Amino acid sequence: MQTSPSSPATGAAERYCLLETIPFVLAHLACLAAVWTGVHATDLMIAVGLYSLRMFGITAGYHRYFSHRSFKTSRTFAFILAFLAQSSAQRGILWWAGNHRQHHRFSDTDKDVHSPIMRGFWHAHLGWFFTEQHKRTNLAAVPDLAKFPELVWLDRHPYLPAVLTGLLVWLLAGWSGLVVGFFWSTVVLWHATFSINSFAHLIGRRRYVTGDQSRNSLCLALLTFGEGWHNNHHHYQSAARQGFRWYEVDVSYYILKALAAANLVWDLHSPPRHVVRSEQRLRRAVVERAAGQLAASFQVEQIAAQLHAMLSEKRASLNASIDELQDDFAEIVESLRHKYDEKIEAARHELHEAMRSVNLGAMPTMADLGARADAMFVRNPSMSDIVERARQILIDDVFEALLRQEAVAVAARP
Ligand SMILES: [Zn+2]
Ligand SMILES: [Zn+2]
Repeated sequence: MQTSPSSPATGAAERYCLLETIPFVLAHLACLAAVWTGVHATDLMIAVGLYSLRMFGITAGYHRYFSHRSFKTSRTFAFILAFLAQSSAQRGILWWAGNHRQHHRFSDTDKDVHSPIMRGFWHAHLGWFFTEQHKRTNLAAVPDLAKFPELVWLDRHPYLPAVLTGLLVWLLAGWSGLVVGFFWSTVVLWHATFSINSFAHLIGRRRYVTGDQSRNSLCLALLTFGEGWHNNHHHYQSAARQGFRWYEVDVSYYILKALAAANLVWDLHSPPRHVVRSEQRLRRAVVERAAGQLAASFQVEQIAAQLHAMLSEKRASLNASIDELQDDFAEIVESLRHKYDEKIEAARHELHEAMRSVNLGAMPTMADLGARADAMFVRNPSMSDIVERARQILIDDVFEALLRQEAVAVAARP
């Protein structure tokens, strides 16, 4: 037996182990041997008997006792249940319970070992069974079972009970008994059990909010002695009964009740009334997952596209308003600028005039200009004209320079 320290994660990297499929395929082919052995009434009775006995072993053993501990029994009867379960050739008791607990923990998520929602019908039905990852017994998930050496031993010899059963049938009923009684019932048992992993998450009613896709189906419940009430079971896993209402046929539970009357099993755990009536608050994880499902049921892309169109419309109308505002603003700015220009022009004019008439400190006076002219030029009759004109030019040039500096200062202002 291989062991893994933690939950085997599922994922895209799952590899199929073709070797594992050989006995499975051969068992299917063995059913065809009925063409040569013939089919007798006794063989069919053996098949029905073996199907019923082993289906009870699967549901009461593998599932309700070892996976969910939904009732109590003696160590000896627990071993008998485990042996009976394994006679259906669905691997070891610890392997089955470990994977099943993993299924409930991560139901219909990417960590679920068999979810038809996540990996498709065939993977959930039988594909997962043949992957390298799920061949191992997940001991970390079944510490309560791994402490019993007889169960660990049985788990290490997963097909021994089935081989012994087949051998016994062959000894008692010959080849046709083996083919029809044993192989036919084994193959039907496989697919009936597998259908809970595949169909029970796809077809039927969902009475309870469980955060996954588990469903209730009368057909599956009849075929699997009560396991078809799968939504009930996902809602409350620790119940020994999976048919919660009187009309929900649950053959395994009826047998367990009979065994309880015979004191072979006891403390059959029932779902509390408020759980059956769905009156209790859901666990946070379930609420979270249900909320996710609800949100995912809406067409997010479509809503986003609608919002986008709405926003674009808003944006267009806003842009139009902004354009309008900008136009208004531009008008205001223009009129302000016009007023400003007028003021500046007036100020400029005033200054210009002032510069002409008043002797501003920094400006050279007529006397300064005359002295400079005397130094520069030979005395001549136009000397006063030169000085007069020079003063005008100087006033104009200084005025232009003043305006330039003013503009530089305005631009530099933060
Ligand atoms: Zn399930
Ligand atoms: Zn379960």
